[in-house]
Amino acid sequence: MTRTLITGGLVVTAAEETHADVLVEGGRVVALALPGSQRWSADRVFDASGKYVVPGGVDAHTHMEMPFGGTRASDTFATGTRAAAWGGTTTIVDFAVQRRGGSLRAGLDDWHAKADGNCAVDYAFHMIVSDVNEPVLRELPGLVGEGVTSFKLFMAYPGVFYSDDGQILRTMQRAADLGALTMMHAENGPAIDVLVEQALARGETDPRHHGEVRKALLEAEATHRAIQLARVAGAPLYVVHVSAREALAEIAAARDLGLPVFGETCPQYLFLSTDNLAEPGFEGAKYVCSTPLRPKDHQAALWRGLRTDDLQVVSTDHCPFCFKGQKELGRDDFSKIPNGLPGVEHRMDLLHQGVVEGRISRTRWIELACAAPARMFGLHPRKGTIAPGSDADLVIYDPHAVQTLSAATHHMDVDYSAYEGRTLTGRVETVLSRGEVLLDRGDYLGRPGHGAFLPRSACQYL
Ligand SMILES: [Zn+2]
Repeated sequence: MTRTLITGGLVVTAAEETHADVLVEGGRVVALALPGSQRWSADRVFDASGKYVVPGGVDAHTHMEMPFGGTRASDTFATGTRAAAWGGTTTIVDFAVQRRGGSLRAGLDDWHAKADGNCAVDYAFHMIVSDVNEPVLRELPGLVGEGVTSFKLFMAYPGVFYSDDGQILRTMQRAADLGALTMMHAENGPAIDVLVEQALARGETDPRHHGEVRKALLEAEATHRAIQLARVAGAPLYVVHVSAREALAEIAAARDLGLPVFGETCPQYLFLSTDNLAEPGFEGAKYVCSTPLRPKDHQAALWRGLRTDDLQVVSTDHCPFCFKGQKELGRDDFSKIPNGLPGVEHRMDLLHQGVVEGRISRTRWIELACAAPARMFGLHPRKGTIAPGSDADLVIYDPHAVQTLSAATHHMDVDYSAYEGRTLTGRVETVLSRGEVLLDRGDYLGRPGHGAFLPRSACQYL
């Protein structure tokens, strides 16, 4: 069995910070000790003096090879998980998609086929339920038994993924009985479709109108409705990609009542805004995603939500489309721009920037990026922390290194960066996944097929 020793680093978990040596054996962390206090022999030693040793990131919201608007997300499981590894993320939870008219089984099998043998890091699945009916609901227990313990519904995208309130209520009831978590894309899709039609009729075709028709109030209204439906169903609820201050207020109010309501946001909502959507030419298309980017003044509310635990998780909603040939599908009609942004590679670094700027603490950084998503989706303490028995998914992080993000240097399979030219302090230096070195000081040593499917238990906050 290979023994690996990481010496002298500041070990940061959601719970604490301690200077410690970390011993890895057989793919797991076996011990932590005061620096230099043990005479451990090892096959491989990493000196982490002056660096952080943090758990590998857990990105609970990705869409590799996701079909959307007549095209598909440009990262495969191979390229997307490789980029994740470069950015210190060692677990992703991707969304398997039920095709309308198809079964959940068929959708999940499709996703297994795409991922199997291709992933550089470990992976798990949520299931998108896009066609709720009795036979489909009868499939839920089987999926939970296979470790797919969360189901995502959409209040947006009528005719594609949309579920009406009755379908949502039925699914929530069934999921609650099974101890599963319902995830919600909370935007009022039918109302948005009216505003899209009216905008296009006025000749408003530019990318910035994507942000204008998908109103904050329609995110807030749907969030409110999802919460009330979950209360009626006696079900827990996880709201994905919260971007509007008004939607966050609904989640905060529900949590103040003691309800099992959780919220996620993404780096794009913390760092980008409608100013990007309004970039001249067709550049704004690079920033089209749903929920949309909001005016800058929403960012402070989201950061506050992250500090006060009204938001628990930061994921990426990684769903990249190339500018050339994909985003361009909507050159004359913003509603035809594929929705999604690349981001899986930069989440750990962008959130660390929040530490550098004094917005969140180091332990909160690790909680939001590693521990909370692992607990939320039934992967803790195997993932998301550094403790004896945990998988040796470890990142040596240099908090002082300076890097500039760019499409010329990133590893995602997409032809632009949403953060082109942005300079960040902090950088991933070394990445281990179950004790195997994936990345060391700029050398990529990972391989497709190292990543394994992770069956998940139920949400650990319930
Ligand atoms: Zn998504």
